[in-house]
Amino acid sequence: MAERLFNFSAGPATLPRSVLEEVQRDLMDLPDVGASALEVSHRSPWFTSVIDEALANLRTLLDIPDTHSVVFCQGGATQQFSMAAMNFLRGTGLTAEFVVTGSWGAKAVNEALKEGDVRVAWSGEDDGFVRVPTQIELSETLTRRAAYVHITSNETIHGVEFPGDPWMPEGVPLFSDMSSDFLSRPVSLDRYALVYAGAQKNAGPAGVTVAIVRNDLLERIPEGLPAMLDYRTFIEHGSLYNTPPVFAIYVLMLVTRRLRDVVGGLEAQLEVNRVKSGLLYDVIDGSEGFYRGHAEQTSRSLMNVTWRLPVEELERTFAAEAAAAGMVELKGHRSVGGIRASVYNSMPLAGARTLADFMRAFAAAHA
Ligand code: PMP
Repeated sequence: MAERLFNFSAGPATLPRSVLEEVQRDLMDLPDVGASALEVSHRSPWFTSVIDEALANLRTLLDIPDTHSVVFCQGGATQQFSMAAMNFLRGTGLTAEFVVTGSWGAKAVNEALKEGDVRVAWSGEDDGFVRVPTQIELSETLTRRAAYVHITSNETIHGVEFPGDPWMPEGVPLFSDMSSDFLSRPVSLDRYALVYAGAQKNAGPAGVTVAIVRNDLLERIPEGLPAMLDYRTFIEHGSLYNTPPVFAIYVLMLVTRRLRDVVGGLEAQLEVNRVKSGLLYDVIDGSEGFYRGHAEQTSRSLMNVTWRLPVEELERTFAAEAAAAGMVELKGHRSVGGIRASVYNSMPLAGARTLADFMRAFAAAHA
């Protein structure tokens, strides 16, 4: 096998080498099955044990309380933007309040507007999405009357992340799009009514979306939703109402098994994530202004590190020279520009070290 590059893509993103090796080894025929994971029925005993373990791993890793159901959907987090509002805003006569800290939150607002009343309670747009609100700002704007409050725990494009579970008014259901920091740190799930995440950053390949729903919310779901857009369908049928993305769930099971057994859980993973992103932020902060971080320090993402160089020309050179040195997908999102290094769970420490060294050398050569 040719040497693997350090892949800093924002998603689909790098997966653990050991997981890829296991998938490769078993691709033609799974042990005791005699067929590939790409070929097996979703009603087979093999897949039953896979989906059961995937769910159990998520429950263990995230310490998901019994009050919450976990389901595997399709359609990505983008479909969750719609589903969340269809299920929990439509017909309530209430307003959904959104805290918008980047482009993904703004997209979620647009979908919710199709279902009912929406209020953007706080937005960082005027400042270019460089931070999350403070607790005081939240307490000044959020009300107790909302159908729910929706946040994006980590804005993938801007590299802006809530440093922990945010403050919320008593009793208001909190919804969070955790697509890009899912499984990167422990979360107090008892504080959330709905959490969803596309798998393709930390949890597995594209094609499966995890949703964690607090069961008492289900009574709000209006009748008449299409079956595949109603959370109850997924819960009642154990995510097997129709054919699920078998292969994606299989890989998610392997990734979460490794996270549980090899990494040792989310506290341990968080420590590693702090170290990896810290290596890059240290170079930015020590560069005497050559590198300018996009996010304010207290809102910096541990997953997507975003920064600018003095001029765009140098940003292009940086990305090209890094690619030539084996570090790919560093170009920032077209809407923000600059450089974005996604250092998800499965990015090896060596990848972050190599990039930090490269950044120092590049600054020395061009400052
Ligand atoms: N929310 C966030 C925070 C994301 O990072 C992304 C994808 N990058 C999405 C939503 C959209 O996810 P999907 O492409 O799975 O629909």
